[in-house]
Amino acid sequence: QKPVLEINDLRLVFPVYGGEISALNNVSLQVNAGEIVGVVGESGSGKSVTAMMSMRLLPQDSFAIKAGELRLLGTDVINASDKQMRQLRGARVAMIFQEPMNALNPTRKIGRQMCEVIRLHQHLTRQQAYQKAIGLLQEMQIGDAEQVMGRYPFELSGGMRQRVLIAMAFSCEPELIIADEPTTALDVTVQRQVLRLLRRKAKSSGTAVLFITHDMAVVSQLCDRVYVMYAGHVIESGKTAEVIGQPAHPYSIGLLQAAPENGEPRSLLKAIPGTVPNLAKLPAGCAFRGRCAQGDEQCAQSPKLMPLDGHAQQLVSCWHPQRIPTLTMQE
Ligand code: ATP
Ligand code: MG
Repeated sequence: QKPVLEINDLRLVFPVYGGEISALNNVSLQVNAGEIVGVVGESGSGKSVTAMMSMRLLPQDSFAIKAGELRLLGTDVINASDKQMRQLRGARVAMIFQEPMNALNPTRKIGRQMCEVIRLHQHLTRQQAYQKAIGLLQEMQIGDAEQVMGRYPFELSGGMRQRVLIAMAFSCEPELIIADEPTTALDVTVQRQVLRLLRRKAKSSGTAVLFITHDMAVVSQLCDRVYVMYAGHVIESGKTAEVIGQPAHPYSIGLLQAAPENGEPRSLLKAIPGTVPNLAKLPAGCAFRGRCAQGDEQCAQSPKLMPLDGHAQQLVSCWHPQRIPTLTMQE
């Protein structure tokens, strides 16, 4: 399997007055061609930093790489030139952000924006670009695609804007799409529709997706594999069915119990007591131990990501991996 994104043992800090914020601590993560991979975790776990760094979109002087490597479609992102990064972005790798209003130009009609993006990276006539945009919007089941092309962003619902952005992300036929919580603002029913279309389009076009979310229910619906992040660490990873069916890390179990059921969102803090530790002074050992019911003296030592017994692909970073009866998420 060919990796499109490969992160090995990456340590990234944000220098701040009097110290540094350890945003990514030895993160390893891989996305293979055509694969849909989720990154899930609470606020502040390092999901967006991972996504932004993969495209090298973090402000140049704001961060420092302390160790590790990051390859995007074979390009060494840490050492690549700005020109090399520009050639990757947009054409071979596309990004979808959370708030579609910010990504669309409010003063220009949808059709014009889509055709511009399409023609920027592909040698197509105006007419060909227009036809391509219509086709993509139809695949996103947006209703009357021609009518939508003639609308301004503010004239569309949030769900429609999100479909437009997904269509635009696919329009350059990228090898990888990085999506950072693109459906969080949508209601659950619309979110499910949009995710179903995203998955179908990604699979039919062979495009890999790195999908960032705080919601295990989203992972369950969309992703082939998943990485669970906590305080800048990957604490569990594996096939979605494995991690969701038999989560081994106490934090993954907590996240699953916090996932909305029947469309009824429950407060994360109710399910996992306590708060994320201060990343400016992370103590040695397991970062979750202050909130963990299983924590003991052993947890003062840093656990390593290890294969779970009997699971070739499921890795867990915990001294006391749990064995709970198989969970089933409500679909
Ligand atoms: P959310 O679910 O809220 O989006 P997240 O998992 O995406 O959370 P990140 O945005 O990746 O979290 O942030 C990880 C940590 O890095 C946080 O503690 C954040 O405050 C810190 N951080 C991010 N960007 C910077 C920056 N430019 N300077 C200093 N600290 C930063
Ligand atoms: Mg984020």
